[in-house]
Amino acid sequence: MARYDGNEVFDVLVVGAGIAGCEAALAAAESGARVALASAGETFSGSSFFPGTWGLGLVGPASEKDEEDFVETILEVGRGMALPGLVRALVRGVAPAVARLEERGVELRGAARPEERDFIPCFDRKCRGWHGLERASYRTATEAALRRAGVTTFPRHELLDLVEQDGRVCGALFARGDCPAYVAAGSVVLATGGFGGLFSRTLTMPDVLGTAAAVALRHGARLINVEFIQIMPGLVEPVRDVVFNERTFRYARVEGLDAPDAAELLDERGGHGPFTASLPDRAVDFAIAAAGARGAAVTYDLPEKLPEFMQTYFDWFEGAFGRRPDAGLRIAPYAHASNGGILVDETGATGVPGLFACGEATGGMHGADRIGGLSSANGLVFGRAAGRAAAQQSTGVAKGQSPRNIPEREDLLALRSAMDKHCLLGRTAEGLEAMGRLLDELDEKNTQAASLRLANATLSARALVTAMLARTESRGAHHRADFPDEDPAQARPLMVRLDTDGRPVAEPLA
Ligand SMILES: Cc1cc2nc3c(=O)[nH]c(=O)nc-3n(C[C@H](O)[C@H](O)[C@H](O)COP(=O)(O)OP(=O)(O)OC[C@H]3O[C@@H](n4cnc5c(N)ncnc54)[C@H](O)[C@@H]3O)c2cc1C
Repeated sequence: MARYDGNEVFDVLVVGAGIAGCEAALAAAESGARVALASAGETFSGSSFFPGTWGLGLVGPASEKDEEDFVETILEVGRGMALPGLVRALVRGVAPAVARLEERGVELRGAARPEERDFIPCFDRKCRGWHGLERASYRTATEAALRRAGVTTFPRHELLDLVEQDGRVCGALFARGDCPAYVAAGSVVLATGGFGGLFSRTLTMPDVLGTAAAVALRHGARLINVEFIQIMPGLVEPVRDVVFNERTFRYARVEGLDAPDAAELLDERGGHGPFTASLPDRAVDFAIAAAGARGAAVTYDLPEKLPEFMQTYFDWFEGAFGRRPDAGLRIAPYAHASNGGILVDETGATGVPGLFACGEATGGMHGADRIGGLSSANGLVFGRAAGRAAAQQSTGVAKGQSPRNIPEREDLLALRSAMDKHCLLGRTAEGLEAMGRLLDELDEKNTQAASLRLANATLSARALVTAMLARTESRGAHHRADFPDEDPAQARPLMVRLDTDGRPVAEPLA
């Protein structure tokens, strides 16, 4: 990878160096563009490189014949919130994406017994094409490919704003530590991941800041489905911020879950990692949430021979923490992956000239619930599409800009813990309005958006709160305690844009 000398102008600037950003950068470079890859974390960061697991499950149709069934199932699981054109493009793109990874030398795990019911992806009804995308192997092969393609990297560059010239995005302003940095480019791709960073209890990485959505909104992009943030049980004891393997619910007892049909509920809950308001097993998550920050105790009755999926988790857990999960755990709800984000078309175009987006930063290919293993697929498929389109549409008009000063880093802890309180499980109008008032107070203190960091975080959070307030029902990942049922009249995605005063408004997608 080329070294940054501070004066270069690029054809394509990709912001975010998880799977989606790496794929976008490679595709743009392979189309002949001069490419920069900037990220708040290191190059190879974000949820894609979460260190607490071996890698990511990657799911696609079992065969070409399975494509239509898979599309239908994704739409059904999305409960009216996924856009059919994007879903079709995603499903058709997985097999070519897997072939490209293999060509690059990425090792993909297969399942020894793929017919075991544990290999049925979350929320799906049958086994599909399952691959294990190993983090270390992906990184080694992709690092070499980025170097060969001459991609310049800017690690530890936090996006603060986009720069426009003649109505076209032509670069971005970053904070590098507390110093400003400007990167000029003919087009920009946002691959900045989800909204995890707006919460304090989150199972994403700290560099998944959740603030780039605000930057995109301010430049005219629209968001879709942002109220659907996956909420996952994670460990608070014996260690914090570690993923709980939901398959183990099938052999578990959960403190506070006293329903007569608890065993059936736990069996059903073992079929999906994230919470859903759309199945009766939501009672399991309500019991976990009721235990508060201390977490609900989980104990196990294990079979003599553990299924493959569980054995892998138990072995990894014991190696990492020196004790088995059945020695006792406590779990609590965490914010996890985002099903919604920036609205794009099949090429990653946002509708704002010069601005593209891909990966978990975007929405529309998933709905109210997402089938497991489709987020890595999303990054691979649409990362490539966005990188290619950004290279084709790069006009190379970018010129230098005088960077603005970057004030001191603001304390975002109050915002994040209030998001935990009001915007995870059991959302209510009262709680969401209280969150809105806190955001008003933070904005009032931050006069004239002197801290772009804080202004981006409050605007992103406000976009989520606006969509969560507007959706007065419970559906998939979105649960309103004051509207616990699904309302058929609200079976349309909500789109968020800024009004003329710069405040987010949510309205059903036309
Ligand atoms: C523990 C865990 C397990 C998971 N398991 C699976 C699975 O098995 N299968 C599956 O499909 N999905 C899974 N997911 C979800 C999946 O990992 C992510 O959705 C996917 O990797 C997102 O890729 P991405 O490239 O879009 O974003 P990320 O990998 O999150 O990368 C985001 C990038 O953007 C950068 N960034 C963020 N904000 C800014 C900013 N303001 N300025 C500059 N840079 C910024 C970050 O530094 C990072 O480089 C899992 C997620 C987690 C956390």
